[in-house]
Amino acid sequence: METKWYEDGLRMIEELTTNAEQIQDELLRGILSRNAGTEYLRQFLHGQADKQLFKKNVPIVSYEDLKPYIDRITNGETPDILSAEPITGFFMSSGTSGGQPKLMPITADVTKMWAIFRTLYESPVMKHFGDINQSGKRMEFMFAKPEIETPSGLKATAVTTSIFKESGFIAMLPKLYTSPVETIFCPDAEQSSYCQLLFGLIQRDEVVMIGSFFASTVLRAIKFLENHWQEMCSDIKTGRLSHRITDSGCRNAASSIMKPNPVLAELIEDICKCKSWEGILRKVWPKARYVGCICTGVMGQYITELEFYSGGLPLVSALYASSEAYFGINLEPLCKPSDVSYTILPNMAYFEFLPVKNECNESTETNSNNEATEPVDLVNVKLGHCYGLLVTTSTGLYRCKVGDVLMVTGFHNNTPQFQFMERENVILSVDQEKTSEADLFKAVTEAKALLDPIGFILTEYTSYADTSSAPGHYVLFWELKEKEGNHCKEPDTKTMVECCFRMEESLHYTYKIYRKNNIIAPLEIRVVKQGSFEVLMDYYVSKGASFSQYKRPSCIKSKEALKILDSRVTGKFFSPKPPL
Ligand code: AMP
Repeated sequence: METKWYEDGLRMIEELTTNAEQIQDELLRGILSRNAGTEYLRQFLHGQADKQLFKKNVPIVSYEDLKPYIDRITNGETPDILSAEPITGFFMSSGTSGGQPKLMPITADVTKMWAIFRTLYESPVMKHFGDINQSGKRMEFMFAKPEIETPSGLKATAVTTSIFKESGFIAMLPKLYTSPVETIFCPDAEQSSYCQLLFGLIQRDEVVMIGSFFASTVLRAIKFLENHWQEMCSDIKTGRLSHRITDSGCRNAASSIMKPNPVLAELIEDICKCKSWEGILRKVWPKARYVGCICTGVMGQYITELEFYSGGLPLVSALYASSEAYFGINLEPLCKPSDVSYTILPNMAYFEFLPVKNECNESTETNSNNEATEPVDLVNVKLGHCYGLLVTTSTGLYRCKVGDVLMVTGFHNNTPQFQFMERENVILSVDQEKTSEADLFKAVTEAKALLDPIGFILTEYTSYADTSSAPGHYVLFWELKEKEGNHCKEPDTKTMVECCFRMEESLHYTYKIYRKNNIIAPLEIRVVKQGSFEVLMDYYVSKGASFSQYKRPSCIKSKEALKILDSRVTGKFFSPKPPL
């Protein structure tokens, strides 16, 4: 009997997780022996490829430490700086470095790795939902991002975009997905969303899976449908694409899919005009078996809303990956989104785990300087402990901090499983952008300069990611004081609106791109009454914070703290236009 492809995938997962230690050691040996002669490794290993020497001599680094090397590669300097394999391009991470996206070098192997990773993360999903490739199409919302050309001529691409560009993917698109390639590459996010939803509606009876990489994107698509379903139904009825779509690729794609279908239009209209949109996904796409998107980490904030719309369809977070490397898969696709753990795949990269003192493991041993101890190998992590993830890859990253904190929740065979805990140093994030305390501080500093000419100073500020409606937006709470006197006059609206805009302009590259594409809504400043931050401090002290060591939080997570500030707001101001 013919075996199903995902059964092969499941068998491979068993083998990998059983032999994790050996696979990790072999992988590291391979990376070191191929790259021992690179400029980077030579200074630490002197041409040797020994694991113990690697652990002893190669430093743990962050992207910033590797950036000078990466910059040289982007500027076209000779090969063999970080990797012996030719660098074929870069992945653009949504994290930023000095306002620019981080660029991770890639080699030809990366495409092959993705194909393996995809088989592995999809296999447990198919085991539960059946081989959806055989039973219908996926309505996945996919948006390619523009590439950046580096001075060397090599291209920097988002990981997702590189997947969409791959010839194998494009070849299987018409059979397996409802979105034509033209809609994925349409540079206008609105037109792309409109067409991807429209084609998903037209192929309603074939849709067996609804999804995107991240939960926020699915939610944005639902909101978009909420605002545009009437227009889409009119298109379906007449078989003619709305004039709002001017992109020639989208119009071409439509011409081969669209024909008048008043019956379908009426059916969708009847569903969409219901007062409550609870369970709308199930109603509009009755054959959908699950919603596939990452709902862990920062995406956890979207679970409740997504559950409301999905009407009981399981939310499946299948994978954990990044621009640095592909990490892990979810072996229990049906488990609650808040309980998801990822099993790290030992064939994707060499992984190390730096113990992190965190709420989840107060007992973590620390050395005399109270610093975390040495990193441990994949198979040596301890249940219930938290770790920062380090990767060593065949593309030239060595002991590089990913910036994610993970907690060990169990083992599958000999391989640990982790829950995603948090992103280090990120305080604000409404989508995939990551804004650090330092990014925020810089933007506030730029904006508050505008207060000076009108005689105000900023005395306190904090922030909050408001995702109560999609798209989410950044909210800043500002407490102001007049430079002279104490008349408690209000700053003028024009200046405050300008402050919002200046903040947006001063935020990092990814924020600005997302804002321009309406993935993030306009930034808001809420001015609060004088003394509000004192009340906030009293609140935190009442909750156990030390009075003498109290530090104003740069970002507010607690609902009560938010209430305190919100009840003292005297003015709300929004950025008038996207940053330039
Ligand atoms: P990027 O490098 O822009 O692709 O972003 C990768 C980062 O996204 C990871 O390091 C994580 O912080 C986050 N991420 C990716 N997959 C997941 C996941 N399944 N759960 C939580 N966070 C994730």
